[in-house]
Amino acid sequence: MLHQKKVLIVGAGLSGSTIARVLAENEIKVEIIEKRNHVAGNIFDFVNSNNERIHKYGPHLLHCERSSKALKFLSRFTEWVNYEHKVRALLKNGQTTPLPINKITLEDIFGKKFSNENDVRNFLDSIRNKNLVAKNTDELFEASVGNKLADIFFRPYTRKMWGLDPKKLSISIGARLPVRTDDNVNYFNDNFQALPKYGYTKMIEEMLFHKNIKINLNTNYVRGIESDFDHSFLSIPIDEFFDFKFGKLPYRSIIFEDRKEFSSDLPAPVINFTDNSKYTRKTQWNLLPNSNLKNKDYNTITYEIPCDIKDNPGEYYYPVRTDESNQIFQKYKKVSQELKNITFCGRTGLYKYIDMVPAVLIHLKIANDFLEKISLI
Ligand SMILES: Cc1cc2nc3c(=O)[nH]c(=O)nc-3n(C[C@H](O)[C@H](O)[C@H](O)COP(=O)(O)OP(=O)(O)OC[C@H]3O[C@@H](n4cnc5c(N)ncnc54)[C@H](O)[C@@H]3O)c2cc1C
Repeated sequence: MLHQKKVLIVGAGLSGSTIARVLAENEIKVEIIEKRNHVAGNIFDFVNSNNERIHKYGPHLLHCERSSKALKFLSRFTEWVNYEHKVRALLKNGQTTPLPINKITLEDIFGKKFSNENDVRNFLDSIRNKNLVAKNTDELFEASVGNKLADIFFRPYTRKMWGLDPKKLSISIGARLPVRTDDNVNYFNDNFQALPKYGYTKMIEEMLFHKNIKINLNTNYVRGIESDFDHSFLSIPIDEFFDFKFGKLPYRSIIFEDRKEFSSDLPAPVINFTDNSKYTRKTQWNLLPNSNLKNKDYNTITYEIPCDIKDNPGEYYYPVRTDESNQIFQKYKKVSQELKNITFCGRTGLYKYIDMVPAVLIHLKIANDFLEKISLI
């Protein structure tokens, strides 16, 4: 009988689970170890005693093109509830205004009325620094919306979020938000925007429900365990694996503060703070359409306080990509490529911020490349 391959996957997040499912369907025995007491990694959600579905590690919104291969894969494990995400920013005067910046935002801030998109475009051109060729996130703000809007919406938020002056952040970090000239108040542009009907955790449980997948929760990775397997996929911090020999890779983390609030509904599920307080945003969970029936007494509102990873140990959220951290990562990447039976994956193995849909695409490819490689042996 042909030797049935045995593979270890460390981390039951979306990345590790995607690889696990593809390999299991190709008759590979997969063993997953996960240090937390639950699967799903950072997309873990649960229903609390108030009957609200809470995303334990911050609000997760799925958005992609309808034709995405990742969506096709995920749709095997969940039904969807359509949901177009809305965010509003809280201003100093207590009013809120839509984000991303659009026609209505400009009218709210500058006390103007625009009759058409051309007017909005001309106005934006008059307040932004059109001639600036941006070399960092701060300059990108100035070039795309001008200093007044940057000072209200982006500079304080970015400083809190990253713990760095936006001048020190590469353009890619500031380039994520569009600026609109119409009155579209959706946060994303993609033609598919939804939430899993029964939550992300259920979706991952369905993905991992396969005769060839075994899961061990509450189990930390211990060096050397991979010698019992033909191959290992590790979604663990790559610098930690190599005992930080080239230095520590910086991460931002977030502390989540849940509050019971008895006031009326927020004007949008997520409100961004523009002030200099420690909070970046707050979320009202029962406004998301896959939350259960809301309790009439109170709403659970989660406030986010970004922090350095040392203030929230083990909770690796956002890689802080700077020239220096990129150089350190390249050294770890190089030595990792010498390990023939180990593949690093996931956000912390690849040291890359990855949204859910790209995470699925990247890890479908990693799994399929592996299958192709072993078929050649
Ligand atoms: C605050 C926040 C908000 C986000 N919002 C969105 C959003 O709105 N839309 C979107 O598309 N994406 C969003 N994302 C990105 C999304 O969370 C990721 O795409 C997804 O979680 C990727 O999963 P992963 O498996 O790579 O990593 P993770 O989910 O981190 O999974 C890694 C797993 O490995 C485990 N592990 C680590 N080390 C060990 C060890 N030594 N031993 C055993 N197990 C270990 C961890 O416990 C974890 O379960 C957000 C991310 C964050 C942090």
